[in-house]
Amino acid sequence: MRYLSTRGHAAPQAFCDILLGGLAPDGGLYLPESYPQVSRADLDAWRQLSYADLAYEILSKFITDIPAADLKAIVSKTYTADVYRFTRNGGDATQITPLTKLEDGLYTQELSNGPTLAFKDMAMQLLGNLFEYVLDQRGQAINILGATSGDTGSAAEYAMRGKHNVKVFMLSPDGKMSAFQRAQMYSLQDPNIFNIAVRGMFDDAQDIVKAVSNDAEFKAKYKIGAVNSINWARVAAQIVYYFQGYFLATQSNDEQVAFCVPSGNFGNICAGHIARQMGLPIAKLVLATNENDVLDEFFKTGVYRPRTSAETNVTSSPSMDISKASNFERFVFDLVGRDPAIVAELWAKVDNGEAFDLSSTVHWQNMPKFAFTSGRSTHADRLATIRMANEKYGVMLDTHTADGLKVALENRQPGLPMVVLETAQPAKFEETIREALNTEPVRPAELAGIEKLEQHVVVMDPDVNAIKQFLVDRV
Ligand SMILES: *Cc1c(COP(=O)(O)O)cnc(C)c1O
Repeated sequence: MRYLSTRGHAAPQAFCDILLGGLAPDGGLYLPESYPQVSRADLDAWRQLSYADLAYEILSKFITDIPAADLKAIVSKTYTADVYRFTRNGGDATQITPLTKLEDGLYTQELSNGPTLAFKDMAMQLLGNLFEYVLDQRGQAINILGATSGDTGSAAEYAMRGKHNVKVFMLSPDGKMSAFQRAQMYSLQDPNIFNIAVRGMFDDAQDIVKAVSNDAEFKAKYKIGAVNSINWARVAAQIVYYFQGYFLATQSNDEQVAFCVPSGNFGNICAGHIARQMGLPIAKLVLATNENDVLDEFFKTGVYRPRTSAETNVTSSPSMDISKASNFERFVFDLVGRDPAIVAELWAKVDNGEAFDLSSTVHWQNMPKFAFTSGRSTHADRLATIRMANEKYGVMLDTHTADGLKVALENRQPGLPMVVLETAQPAKFEETIREALNTEPVRPAELAGIEKLEQHVVVMDPDVNAIKQFLVDRV
């Protein structure tokens, strides 16, 4: 299997060669040359498999440059009931992503049972083990520099802690994350993890990462890398739980399902799109946004209009607060018939801060083939849905999953099971849970009192040179 760029100017690459990088050299995103096709016989055989064995079957179609025994070992140590142990609602941890039945034909799929209680762990834990393996093989090292407003940074740190040849430098906005999120990140003791709280906002932290990445010489000399959401391996890892969700929600491979996906950067639902292209019987992919509805607008109108940061709302489902969706280019590549020249033209506009409109093109007529629908949810919807789910189904939802359930209920079809992806646990968003339910969210017993643990963090000004020096002194 080789990977090509959505913009067409990069030479096809093997999986391990794109693992450690980010964008393709032409600014595009990597995608497989073609999607492996899954037969009815494959589905019949896979229905009985454990999550790790299923992950191996699927990932081995995309990763053909790691020997089978090694890939099997990597996947088996990643997807264990111990790593994904924080199940709730009576979920079976050995299933890794178990379903909770809300009522007949309506489920949530728990993707947030990993160490940081958000779905980013599903892919990031695999990435940590893949990085370590490939760096060992090649005798290389990497220094990951990132900026986080919450979920991504903690998932990256928990995935990379203690890994050989990997150091993580994570910038976060000083005092802007919840006490729980701060405790999750800053209480890590591992000597390869460095937390830097930047005096300023998330954007200030992000700007520093961009400035460092744009300094090609520094980047090469100090082996600076990233683990952002456009990383292909993250998307690939996420494909697996769509298959698992399908098997758990159905009795036989004659049935179809719908998935509803709380979306921000389009990484999660991109994996669902690919699972469907591979032949998984998904009748509908329902995309849910919060008030930052750039994607809902596209799927309703054909117009993709990225917002400025000033137009981006700070909401109570903060992990979906995006102004443009970094993985969306992958879907548009398929929508326009995998023609990289068209993608390059459209993204020349996006990169220039402009919108594009596909509504009057032939591509838009192909949309029904991809089975997407969409909807949006607001703070008031979120509160109402958290209350409703608590009263009617006896489950406590996080704010992002509540956006998903709200939109899922608007898009249900009789006879078609609907699976809402649960992207985080409510414990991460205490303030909104209190507002909705007037109570504290349930938290895994093991994480009680983590706010009281000793914290390791340095506070710095948003000064690029000072932060570069901090890295130089530690790599
Ligand atoms: C990252 C995240 C999302 C958005 O996922 P995308 O892959 O960016 O669409 C939704 N919910 C939670 C809790 C997240 O952490």
